[in-house]
Amino acid sequence: MTVVQNGTTNGSASSAPTKPAGLDASKLKITLSQNLKPIPPPETLIFGQTTTDHMVFVEYDPVNGWSAPEIKPYGPLNLDPMSSCFQYCPNVFEGMKAYIGPDGKPRLFRPEMNMARMKRSADRVSLPVFDTEELLKIIKRFIEVEARWIPKAKGHSLYIRPTIIGTRASLGVGPSNHAILYVVVSPAGPYFKTGSRAVSLLAVTEHVRAWPGGTGGYKLSLNYAPTFMPQQAAAQKGYDQVLWILGEDKHVTEVGAMNFFVVVKRDDGDLDVLTPPLDGTILPGLTRDSVLKLTAAHPSRTSLPNLPNSLKLYPHEQLLTMSQIIEWSKQGRLLEAFGVGTAVVVVGVGKIGFEGQDIILPQHEGGLGPVSRALYERIVDIQEGKVEWEHWSVPCDEQ
Ligand SMILES: *Cc1c(COP(=O)(O)O)cnc(C)c1O
Repeated sequence: MTVVQNGTTNGSASSAPTKPAGLDASKLKITLSQNLKPIPPPETLIFGQTTTDHMVFVEYDPVNGWSAPEIKPYGPLNLDPMSSCFQYCPNVFEGMKAYIGPDGKPRLFRPEMNMARMKRSADRVSLPVFDTEELLKIIKRFIEVEARWIPKAKGHSLYIRPTIIGTRASLGVGPSNHAILYVVVSPAGPYFKTGSRAVSLLAVTEHVRAWPGGTGGYKLSLNYAPTFMPQQAAAQKGYDQVLWILGEDKHVTEVGAMNFFVVVKRDDGDLDVLTPPLDGTILPGLTRDSVLKLTAAHPSRTSLPNLPNSLKLYPHEQLLTMSQIIEWSKQGRLLEAFGVGTAVVVVGVGKIGFEGQDIILPQHEGGLGPVSRALYERIVDIQEGKVEWEHWSVPCDEQ
């Protein structure tokens, strides 16, 4: 392994500090697998269960910095049992997807946003810094290597999971100055196997996913395990997902691991499209941002599929309390509720259980109302390169 000398040592001899190497895509080494796996039929795919032929692997240590990145055959990691990832969870991840465009080339959706978010997450748990542009170059190359794994059917994609784990081998409570950055991919069909139907939510107040000043706004591994028990309890009561409520005013934060939206009819007949603001308790989702931008663009800059041009959509980030949602429902103004995220894209909500009552939303064929369906269709078309919009879909061969 080479140690990169700090270029600004002014010749101050051997005591000069050395600068650890930055993440560098130009050092990428590719070792291809000698026995490629068979590709399973798309209809048999279960989210996150299929492994592919290769993975990205890079290591960081405080002396040498980032190692030369490798694309190598998929396989287990070899870790010291004292590694801090097993004890204090300085672990971060991203969720992105690759799609095949009409030109047959693999594409990513707004990937620079995933890279920027991953850097913020890594900073939040004091993991080593890395150059986000270099990581994106490595991921694009990796997706080109794994391109045969991208399912071509509509609504299918190759899910990408970039991960950084702290690997400092010490039980001392403190930042990990060793790390492994790896990327694995998994072919995926539509997230909910039930096909297209609305999900039911149980509004939960006794457990919270995130809190002011906490880490809910970062994609940290440690945010997820505490949600499993409340999720299981909701499932036992017959609800699909948890609607996370926070504070004495009982306001909505997120649904499961998705951002939450409602569509409310205004007095003038147009529609408000509402989601809670990014106050630190909400994960700043790319899909959330895309929904806000696309609804703002209708109808002046684009027409969302099957929505009349005479209909105006008013996106707002605002606090949504349960009492407000119940009020809108009673007035017949609560037209749609939906969750959004990379894995699902958009999923409709059919009912919300809260304090022993069910709030029933208007029911729609396939589970999505007109606005959420229009958003689903448009986002998937942009992701699959069928509709060009603001350069959100990026071919992997574009540097
Ligand atoms: C990843 C995630 C989302 C969705 O973010 P996208 O960038 O749209 O995939 C929403 N909420 C939570 C808690 C998440 O982890």
